[in-house]
Amino acid sequence: MRFNKILNSFPEYNPSSAKLSNDLIDLSKNENPFDVSYEIKQIFYNKINQTSLNRYPELTSDSIRQRISEFLNTYFKSYYLNLDKNNIVVGNGSDELISYLVKIFDGEEVIVSPPTFEMYEFYSKLHNLNVKKIPLDENYEINNLDQKINEKTRIVFICSPNNPTGNIQPEEEIIKVLEKGFPVVIDEAYADFSKKSMIKCLEKYPNLIILRTFSKAFGLAGIRAGILIANQEIVRQIMKIKSPYSFNILSEKMVETIIENYEDVLKTIDYIIEERNTLSEKLKGYALKSDSNFLLIDLSKISGLSAEDAYNFFLENKIIVRKYSGVLENKIRVTVGTKEENKKFLDCFNSLLDKYY
Ligand SMILES: *Cc1c(COP(=O)(O)O)cnc(C)c1O
Repeated sequence: MRFNKILNSFPEYNPSSAKLSNDLIDLSKNENPFDVSYEIKQIFYNKINQTSLNRYPELTSDSIRQRISEFLNTYFKSYYLNLDKNNIVVGNGSDELISYLVKIFDGEEVIVSPPTFEMYEFYSKLHNLNVKKIPLDENYEINNLDQKINEKTRIVFICSPNNPTGNIQPEEEIIKVLEKGFPVVIDEAYADFSKKSMIKCLEKYPNLIILRTFSKAFGLAGIRAGILIANQEIVRQIMKIKSPYSFNILSEKMVETIIENYEDVLKTIDYIIEERNTLSEKLKGYALKSDSNFLLIDLSKISGLSAEDAYNFFLENKIIVRKYSGVLENKIRVTVGTKEENKKFLDCFNSLLDKYY
């Protein structure tokens, strides 16, 4: 047996990220702290009861794509979008969609701006593509990224709000990149928390691709549902290579249910934004300004405290945070949880400060 050599550059699958015990508060994955309500689950069950699970889902998911396009037209009504199903691809999480985006265009190099979401690089490497890394500036913003684009460029990934730094990217900088005419992905996984979107530019820029997900603000990480919004030509090309039936019936029915009950989602978004602002205020001096549902905390001013120490301290107190190394050395990322969870996190953070000062 000979395995593909590419696999040698991939780290081992690491099961330590699995949930260790049930009484832990997991603030490491940017999930929504609230499950969908009992009422929403009942509506979902009713839909499932009327669905034949022995049958495959629709081959090209036309009904749900149409429903999503109408939802987006309503949700962003001030932009007069006029989207239809031919502007939408649904995927088994946005991860699946990223895997197609790195494949469909020509060109040698994928441009990413670290520190950012790792999946762009992951799928690029998997397809043997060169990843050109143009780091974010000292404010974690893209800065003249357009000047790095050339004939070799295959696709550009911009995450806004950016994971793991939390900030949105400047619109005028994004426009400069779009003006170059190469494919540009704006990953808006957290845009529900910033209330800013580049979706309004879709008509003007046929090279713009927007990614959104149901995993964060919509509280459906377990359902695995992501969407891509772009011009019809891009969608048509992706549909040619998409795994058939990857968007399963359960995801389809749940997405349908949640968009029919969007007021519930809006309430959680408002709650999380308010909690984020409170938490950020109380962590003053340590947390970076965030436009998302998580905060990046800089521990470098606390001498002798590494991200590893902080991670372990939180873990002893039954809280899981995300720790970083490399360019984000001395930083941890914490997801905004419920009021109670955030209070526990803050109490714990304050004890940590007491211990090190
Ligand atoms: C969480 C996240 C996603 C969502 O991934 P899914 O596969 O849809 O769960 C996409 N992009 C970024 C930057 C994220 O942090």
